[in-house]
Amino acid sequence: MVKSIWHLTLIIFFFLTLLRSTTPDPVYHFQQYLRIKTAHPDPDYPTAVSYLHELAKSIPNLQTRILNLHPHKPKPLLLITLPGSNPSLPSLLLNSHLDSVPAEPSKWLHPPFDAVKTDDGCIFARGAQDDKCIAIQYLEAIRNIFYKHPGFKPIRTVHICYVPDEEIGGLDGMAKFVESDEFKEMNVGFFLDEGQASTNDEYRVFYADRSPWNLVIKATGQPGHGSKMFDNSAMENLMKSVEVVSKFRENQFDLVKAGVARNSEVISANPVYLKAGIVADSSGDGKFVMNMQPSEAEAGYDVRLPPTVDPDLLKKRIADEWAPASRNMSFHIVEKGPLRDYAGRPLVTATNDSNPWWTVFKSAVEAAGGKLSKPEILASTTDARYMRVRGIPSLGFSPMKNTPILLHDHNEFLKDTIFLEGIKIYESIIKALSSFEGATP
Ligand SMILES: [Zn+2]
Repeated sequence: MVKSIWHLTLIIFFFLTLLRSTTPDPVYHFQQYLRIKTAHPDPDYPTAVSYLHELAKSIPNLQTRILNLHPHKPKPLLLITLPGSNPSLPSLLLNSHLDSVPAEPSKWLHPPFDAVKTDDGCIFARGAQDDKCIAIQYLEAIRNIFYKHPGFKPIRTVHICYVPDEEIGGLDGMAKFVESDEFKEMNVGFFLDEGQASTNDEYRVFYADRSPWNLVIKATGQPGHGSKMFDNSAMENLMKSVEVVSKFRENQFDLVKAGVARNSEVISANPVYLKAGIVADSSGDGKFVMNMQPSEAEAGYDVRLPPTVDPDLLKKRIADEWAPASRNMSFHIVEKGPLRDYAGRPLVTATNDSNPWWTVFKSAVEAAGGKLSKPEILASTTDARYMRVRGIPSLGFSPMKNTPILLHDHNEFLKDTIFLEGIKIYESIIKALSSFEGATP
């Protein structure tokens, strides 16, 4: 008797071991994906796409397509579809960009493309937070849904897209995709994109991006001998403007420091370059003519506008105060993204009951034991702007709580337990949104 119980225990142990070795390991998939170098300037998109493609094929009910967005460059986009039973309903689209920013290996504790997991479960890699975590979490969430509920039938279709080039503006990525026939046929009703880590117990969610402007202000003036005092030199005019912009920047920053507004809710105007002077010779040693006041001078600013700002009012301020013609100043703005949608509305997604997608999303996060913090404007930009400009409600959300914000930073990492909790959150979100039959605007 004792012997047969021992045998039975051995057999059970053997099968459990076998099961464990064949059970897909999401953390392992995450590490494998992080090891594919998709950092700029030379992202390996084909390998990343084929890895995700294989992973998707191991999950029930998923259909896959690879689109080539550019006829001459390797810019593949992987589109994964979980068909819903009512294709006439607007679909849900989950997005993750394939690329990442570069990393400086010498500044990292662990090599940035080895995806080393430390004893306490932290996985160090470029892209761990931005945004390869969500790429794997989406798929593992769908795998879990069918594992736990084999008979689950989504009503709405769910798509996942893996796009190239987000980190360099998305012109050969999301911008091309939204123009494609494939995208139009998808009838996207709600878009979920990347967000950012939260340092506390609540998940952050973003309902808008700030829009970047590249602003150059330029002054011209009478040139003159370095020894001469006269009014309206180009340098004097520019320096006056630099002071005015600095004052404006200080006032905006004061609102943040006083806790009245978040960083992303004010206009930032950060100086990024100053250009003036006459180069002394062509030797390239950077020496300038010192006894001559130049006839031209300019300054460059990175300006970011929250969607609540009236862009025309800011342009007027620039024309009146920052670069007034009365001081021989001119300016040039390159708007790096849209500020209003096709109907002229600010690029904002409602986070109240007027947006049924929001209500279902929020309840789903809570049903999985998650808590959302007050919705925010993202300080930077993401591919979500390409959706909002089409009037498609879009939220930025990466379920990373109790995690330092390390996107684009050295030693970017994500802890395995946080990553796995994020999969549970997406299981709830995907299940709820794909089962949601109610009317949407
Ligand atoms: Zn990102």
